[in-house]
Amino acid sequence: EKRNPGEPEFIQAVTEVLETLQPVAEKRQDLIDAGVFERIVEPERQIMFRVPWVDDNGKVQVNRGFRIQFNSAIGPYKGGIRLHPSVYLGIIKFLGFEQVFKNSLTTLPMGGGKGGSDFDPKGKSDGEIMRFCQSFMTELCKHIGADCDVPAGDIGTGAREIGFMFGQYKRIRNEFVGVLTGKGLTYGGSLARTEATGYGLCYFTNEMLQANGKSFKDQTVVISGSGNVAIYATEKATQYGAKVVTVSDSNGYIYDPDGIDLDLVKQIKEVERGRIKEYIGRSSHKNAEYHEGSVWTLKCNAGDIKLDIALPCATQNEINGDGAKAIVANGGYAVAEGANMPSTPEAIETYLSNGVLYGPAKAANAGGVATSGLEMSQNSERLSWTFEEVDEKLHGIMKSIFKACDEAAKEYGMAGNYMAGANIAGFLKVAEAMKAQGCV
Ligand code: NDP
Repeated sequence: EKRNPGEPEFIQAVTEVLETLQPVAEKRQDLIDAGVFERIVEPERQIMFRVPWVDDNGKVQVNRGFRIQFNSAIGPYKGGIRLHPSVYLGIIKFLGFEQVFKNSLTTLPMGGGKGGSDFDPKGKSDGEIMRFCQSFMTELCKHIGADCDVPAGDIGTGAREIGFMFGQYKRIRNEFVGVLTGKGLTYGGSLARTEATGYGLCYFTNEMLQANGKSFKDQTVVISGSGNVAIYATEKATQYGAKVVTVSDSNGYIYDPDGIDLDLVKQIKEVERGRIKEYIGRSSHKNAEYHEGSVWTLKCNAGDIKLDIALPCATQNEINGDGAKAIVANGGYAVAEGANMPSTPEAIETYLSNGVLYGPAKAANAGGVATSGLEMSQNSERLSWTFEEVDEKLHGIMKSIFKACDEAAKEYGMAGNYMAGANIAGFLKVAEAMKAQGCV
């Protein structure tokens, strides 16, 4: 805490990982001697910069830009760019730290990084978004590259923003290379990247359920968020035969006991960039309700929202101890994280002490970055794979991630604790590489 004052999210992420690595430290004196534990919690490089841009009224605005290049032991830095007013150094550091382990779990050669800005895209015109993205990339382009650091999307950064950033990078550097992922399909993007995190979350969850004698079929699923991850998690869970009854945004949530009308959510969020409360009145589902506040209160007009599976897909620390208790009390037996670190330490404690099957973010939501890795491969080959090819590879990767978590947990005497398994399996690969490369 002394080294990272005022960065509670970063300390939370590091504490969770280091606690579960205790059994590894006991067995691996060689990694302690190589200083791996001290080195892995310190970013290799952190870049902060001014992002000036001119708004539609001709007024100069200034935001702060970040890129944390956390660990390059197993490959070029890789991780998304978050545009949200809550962004500050501690958020980007926690995300970059998590990304190191997540990327390791994907089995692909990618190091960990993360970036972003406190810019708020909500309510901005296309012109303002473009001018911001161009200014952001004008500085960022000095620090990234196809073999060095390959950013992607995250909260507030979708295909539109990636397009503007890619255009600016190409213009300044005069290079057409795979320096960003999540690109449009006409200029190097991969099919199935849009769907990848949400689909991957459900592939992982399906493995976890099956390993415990359960399945998605006929289960009631509560999902938070209504962005990229939430939308495609809803789609795949529904394809698996589950009924998704909620979606949300930072103002409130929809409870639709007849199952969320996903085409309408896509229209409101992807096309119109509107608010989720607009669902009411436009849906033919007459029983749908809108409530202000967090979906994890699990309250509806009739009382409690009953559920089997919870898939948090909005943001960090959205489920606290009370939210986790509500999940358990209302019948939830499985939680798998689409968002990064959506559960507080109290929430995780509640899952584990109540026997809830828990799929942690760095394993469960790794499908997005895995497919970004596949986009990098396609860019290098200068070929495009079909949707089915990419989806099949993604499915295979999510299966192998579950297996790695399951086996590592068993090997270290914590069978069924997939959080410990994910941390251990993700850590070991990076740690071996760091040790082999010497004290750098
Ligand atoms: P989007 O910007 O597409 O959507 C984010 C959703 O979460 C929106 O519904 C948003 O509502 C809601 N949200 C954001 N901040 C808050 C908040 N403070 N409180 C309540 N709700 C909030 O982002 P993504 O779907 O891409 O990302 C969602 C999560 O998944 C993040 O944690 C991200 O890091 C993680 N993730 C994303 C990946 C990807 O490939 N996109 C890959 C791996 C992880 P509102 O519109 O009101 O802000």
